[in-house]
Amino acid sequence: MYRIRLFAVRHARSFEWIYKGVERVMVALDPLFSRIGYNRVERPVALIEKGVKTLLFDCKMCGQCVLSSTGMSCPMNCPKQLRNGPCGGVRDGGYCEVKPDMKCVWTLAWNGASRMKEGRDKIREVLPPVEHTLKGSSSWLRVSREKATQIRQSRDAARAALAEAFPEARLQEPAAAPLSVEPPKATQAEGEQ
Ligand code: SF4
Repeated sequence: MYRIRLFAVRHARSFEWIYKGVERVMVALDPLFSRIGYNRVERPVALIEKGVKTLLFDCKMCGQCVLSSTGMSCPMNCPKQLRNGPCGGVRDGGYCEVKPDMKCVWTLAWNGASRMKEGRDKIREVLPPVEHTLKGSSSWLRVSREKATQIRQSRDAARAALAEAFPEARLQEPAAAPLSVEPPKATQAEGEQ
């Protein structure tokens, strides 16, 4: 497992690319997940996520995956579970103070982040403390659900702005451009306003 973890860090750029692809697929599946119910898909998706990420990253299923900010080195493998950089005890050669045979996860994180397209910027971001109530839940599902909601909201806002900008067009041909949100002004006759 440890060797695979090192492999993942060495190929952090490829995993960054794969992760973006997985995220796009998960976001595209949002309508299906919504129809089935996110509560129902949580368990099977979390099981798949656990299997894949335990093999590749020694994942502990913290539920708030930060691999894209830590060079594909899981910080939950740090014996002190530090999420914002190494402690002061890193040994010569970048080895862990508590487990001398293991490379410090933050030494690996810096190496991995250096290989990633956005890694150098993201590793400098301060991460929030672990929310323990999310332990065991699927990060993939939560993140993709949040992204899908953001996309939906910005699309609805853009459509509403467009409908507001062309009220006459909306009055003449409301069915020709089925914009989702119909502001009241767009569908009222002039005298009614
Ligand atoms: S950060 Fe959390 S979800 Fe991501 S690999 Fe580590 S334990 Fe798993």
